[in-house]
Amino acid sequence: MDHFQPTDGVLHAEQVSLEKIAADVGTPVYVYSRATLERHAKIFREALSPLGDPLIAFAVKANPNLAVLKVLQRQGFGADVVSGGELMRALAAGMPPGKIVFSGVGKTDAELSLGLDKAIGQFNIESREEGRELAALAAARGEEAQACLRINPDVDAKTHAKISTGKAENKFGVPLTHAREAFAELAALDGMNLRGVAIHIGSQLGDLEPLETAFAKVGKLVDDLRSTGHTITHVDLGGGLGVPYRKGEILPSPAEYGELVARASKGWDVQLTFEPGRLIAGNAGVLLTRVVRVKRGGNGPPFLIVDAAMNDLARPALYGAWHDFDAVKPTGERMMANIVGPICETGDTFATDRDCDALAAGDLGVFRTAGAYGATMASSYNSRGFVAEVLVDGDKYAVVADRIDAGAIMDAERVPDWLE
Ligand SMILES: *Cc1c(COP(=O)(O)O)cnc(C)c1O
Repeated sequence: MDHFQPTDGVLHAEQVSLEKIAADVGTPVYVYSRATLERHAKIFREALSPLGDPLIAFAVKANPNLAVLKVLQRQGFGADVVSGGELMRALAAGMPPGKIVFSGVGKTDAELSLGLDKAIGQFNIESREEGRELAALAAARGEEAQACLRINPDVDAKTHAKISTGKAENKFGVPLTHAREAFAELAALDGMNLRGVAIHIGSQLGDLEPLETAFAKVGKLVDDLRSTGHTITHVDLGGGLGVPYRKGEILPSPAEYGELVARASKGWDVQLTFEPGRLIAGNAGVLLTRVVRVKRGGNGPPFLIVDAAMNDLARPALYGAWHDFDAVKPTGERMMANIVGPICETGDTFATDRDCDALAAGDLGVFRTAGAYGATMASSYNSRGFVAEVLVDGDKYAVVADRIDAGAIMDAERVPDWLE
């Protein structure tokens, strides 16, 4: 459930009309709902409540906006970060360093050092090489890095290939077959407190079975590591739960996920960490856009040309992803349309042969479920600038990210004098 519902025939975010936001801020614009973010945060925490007091580290890459992070920080969430930039954002939002987990296969020395400087709670190490580097950096400072070893469990998460992360051929984690050896080597290093294991098998998971398989492998590994004398106090089970992108689509619920985790982790006796991203933010945001014009006369249905494009919302172009598209002020009439943006690529297509609310030039519409992997993936392709973001809270709203126009981007560029 989300808080983007019609009132008096006009779609609202909580109590704020999307017509008002479009008029005040312009389009395209991302609109987030605080109540929806909080609702999702609470439901997820509730579902995990039988597991003691796990660390819930929001996957910042899903939506790194500072105001969004602040909402979640106030819910007691920590952060899962995958770059120095995300680490700085989590800290800027007030997340305690101890609740920050640093994941990613390509952390540079500078990023590892930044994590040590800030005394973050956990590094998730993705290779032996990275583990050696981290241990050396920490030892040189007379410190110990708190770390888990990320395992690649070689399970098929049954999701889109580009967001599957737990198969043997994916770049993430240490193969389970080498995990014991790698753990023994790294745990013995000065500067390293290797205290557990981590996994994250993929995103937009629509089926719990791959998670169940992966969790069972983690449990077996924890037993094996303990039987060879290692102390295991932490397990990080990652994120990945999918969200409905189409009206009526049914996905595993947080409650079902919580039951699965409780079953699978029975007897582990560890501090658990979770890294949800999409589940928390996905349905808490829409991309509000205005129809530029309706172009008729091709072979198929008319092109509904909107002012948002693939640079603002990349998921359809990147993954062939579906986003429901609804009018802000529906008339009750329907149309068939190809919904496209203005960018000069055929890939700039949001939907083909879509049965949607009838819209004309100047009308407003929303792409739903755009709160995760939306604005964060934006680019300035076609010199379109970066889209603005708004957070609604009850009957008020604030612009939480300014639109960065093409001129501001051009200001960061220079023509060297030897070209003048
Ligand atoms: C992307 C990512 C997540 C979040 O995935 P969601 O599908 O958004 O829940 C969690 N952990 C890691 C390591 C990630 O890379």
